[in-house]
Amino acid sequence: MNPEHIENRARAGILAVRWENGSAHEFTHAALRAACPCSACRAVRRAGGTVEASPAVRLAAIEPAGANALNLAFTDGHARGIYPFALLAELAAVHC
Ligand SMILES: [Zn+2]
Repeated sequence: MNPEHIENRARAGILAVRWENGSAHEFTHAALRAACPCSACRAVRRAGGTVEASPAVRLAAIEPAGANALNLAFTDGHARGIYPFALLAELAAVHC
């Protein structure tokens, strides 16, 4: 499922996604940071750890990564995460 509209509410620390089926989800920037799917963060989770995300962390940049993903950069300097739309949909289901 693809997003129909993505709105970054920077001050509130919310990334609001409206999906093509009409449903919507508000991700906090911190939740997105904690869910970073880059290889380093996956290695932390695989080792049984959790990826730390300050509640104050914010998205610093949102770039398309191919047709079906976003590359999200954060104000803590972490910018390696490629977030496929399928992952965002999965996160939306879990965090609801
Ligand atoms: Zn990461």
